[in-house]
Order: sequence, then structure tokens, then C-alpha cells
Amino acid sequence: MIVVLLGPPGCGKGTQGERLAAALKVPKISTGDVIRAAIKAGTPLGLKAKSYYDRGDLVPDALIMDIIRETLAAPEQARGAILDGVVRTVPQAEGLAEVLTGLGRSLGLVLMFQIADEQLVGRLSSRVVCEACQSPFSGRNPGELHAECLKEPKGHLVRRKDDEPDAIRNRLTVYHAQTAPVLAWYRANKGPLTEIDALGTMDDVTGRMMRAAGLARSA
Ligand code: AMP
Repeated sequence: MIVVLLGPPGCGKGTQGERLAAALKVPKISTGDVIRAAIKAGTPLGLKAKSYYDRGDLVPDALIMDIIRETLAAPEQARGAILDGVVRTVPQAEGLAEVLTGLGRSLGLVLMFQIADEQLVGRLSSRVVCEACQSPFSGRNPGELHAECLKEPKGHLVRRKDDEPDAIRNRLTVYHAQTAPVLAWYRANKGPLTEIDALGTMDDVTGRMMRAAGLARSA
């Protein structure tokens, strides 16, 4: 099954996506992680994406579509994939539909994580992530910024460049201007869209997601 996770920055879709990927036994693809790794390694993609990324702007659709085309055609994704952070613009939604048609596949589910902006600013400004595995550790205090991750290979906990206050504000503005219309696009195109409330504990939200994915029964 191919699943698209939609939602504003900080809504928890990365963590929830890991859980859904484990339940469905398919890989999770995060374009944000691909871009961070490319910037760190200084590849051509990283060099093109860095200035957009650092400001909290979206990187150009053409770069994202190259990542998607390549990733979805790879054998690792033959059984399906969880797409975390794609799609973020209407042209990406159209591009993904075209890529899937070309591969003779279709979208199984589009999961929208609904949450108000006020909840997100606090979450993002207190978030630190592991430099090595990208796992978020929300709510750690800044004194722990360079503590170590609990998982091997134990990277340092750092603040993402785009989790600085100016970049957070910009990412939310960008989200409302460019990504929120994707929801209307899936509604208009009768995509397999389900909206879930992303407020609550991680396990509450996981429960709602698993029910939406048909992996758990409704309470
Ligand atoms: P994320 O880790 O998903 O929050 O993404 C971090 C940053 O990577 C975004 O603010 C963008 O600069 C870039 N990015 C990730 N996915 C996309 C996408 N689908 N379209 C455009 N930019 C993206």
C-alpha cells in the first residue's frame, strides 16, 4: 500500500509514519531526511536544496519529483511505502499521480493530521533530533542539546536549522499557502483521503491512524 502523510510541520507525522511503516512492513520515505542527508554530504541535490531548506521554504517541485520517481521505482518499495512530507504542493500531488499511473500503481491512503498552529510552535521550538537517525526528542531542554541519542549509532541531539524561530514561522506560512491546498485537491479528485485529529498523546494519535488505515478496529 502506498500512503501519503499530510499535515503541518510538527504535527507528528514523522513519528506516526514510522509506526505505520512498521505495522505495514513497508519502508518510510521522508523527503526531508533525503534532503538533510544530501545537504550533509554536499551532493548536487544538497547544494541546490540548502538555501531553501535553511529558510524553511519548500525546495523546487522538480527536485522533489526526481526523488519520488527514483524512490518509487526501486524494488525496496515494491510492496508499498509511507510517503512522509510528500506531497506538499498541488503540482507534487499531480506529479505523484502521474508517476503512480506510469508504474501501474495507485494511492492506498492519504492521511491528513489535523492540528492548530498554536500547538505546533511550542512543539517545534522545543524539538531536538538525533543527528544520525533523525529521531525527534521533543521537550528536551536546551541544556541537553548535545546529549546523545538512545539508539545506535548514538548521534548527537541537535536542533534542526529549520526549527529556529524565524524558520518555524516561515514554514507555517508556507504550509498554509502551498500545502493546505493539497487537501482541497485530494477532496476534489476523490483521493482516498482520511483526516485524523493529531492532538493528544502519541499513542492516542497512533490508535486513530491505525483505525484509519484499517489496521485496528474502531473503539
Ligand atoms: P520535513 O523534514 O518534512 O519537515 O522537511 C524539511 C524541509 O525539507 C522542508 O521545510 C523543505 O525545505 C524540504 N522538503 C521536504 N519535503 C519537501 C517537499 N515534498 N517539497 C518541498 N520541500 C520539501
